[in-house]
Amino acid sequence: MAKLRVLVWNEFRHEKKNPKVKKVYPKGMHDVIAKALNKDKGIKATLAALDDFEHGLTEEVLKNTDVLIWWAHGAHKEVKDEIVDRVQKYVLQGMGLIVLHSGHFSKIFRKMMGTSCILTWREAGEKERLWVTQPGHPIAEGLPEYFELKHEEMYGEFFDVPHPEALVFTSWFKGGEVFRSGLCYTRGKGKIFYFRPGHETHPTYYDKNIQQVLKNAVKWAAPVKNSAKIPEGVSVKPIEKI
Ligand code: ZN
Repeated sequence: MAKLRVLVWNEFRHEKKNPKVKKVYPKGMHDVIAKALNKDKGIKATLAALDDFEHGLTEEVLKNTDVLIWWAHGAHKEVKDEIVDRVQKYVLQGMGLIVLHSGHFSKIFRKMMGTSCILTWREAGEKERLWVTQPGHPIAEGLPEYFELKHEEMYGEFFDVPHPEALVFTSWFKGGEVFRSGLCYTRGKGKIFYFRPGHETHPTYYDKNIQQVLKNAVKWAAPVKNSAKIPEGVSVKPIEKI
């Protein structure tokens, strides 16, 4: 069977500018994520970054991508609108999209959601407990009923996103807030998964449970192969005689 082609996209600025982040992710968090995914024989993960040519998201690259993973934070505005439109086109055609952490405010996620995607936050490095709130879902495979991250940024409700088709994880934070942290959507033929953890100063993407979630999410979001085309709003002839 052909391997799933995963493109791990990272803004890749914090790791270069902030020594604290560089210490945790010397080659970038996308590198850590891709290495974890590549341990799976069914996945081939490669890297792209904001400062690459066309943000590393050329037609050629996207044509050969099954699932795109997106981490971004401080430079959402620098992502060119025509590239966002291009990514949207591929998602609607079936490419999977996994949006991580502060990617909630990226142009592509907000475009796919159609809402403000605002939330509340606190940087206190507090404990996060992620409850599996849909244990039968493929993204929950192999996970315990809950798992914890010792230090994370807090994201709190209200998270202004459309009601999800599946709520796989719900987070609780030591400070008392809760957050819908693993959300599934469908747009066109494409599947979208938003996953909350992953603040750049914490080693979250080295965590075994987090890596398991990402692996499961890639497999879940992969395109389904069929010959159905997205209707292009044209008048059609009847299949049966009317
Ligand atoms: Zn953050």
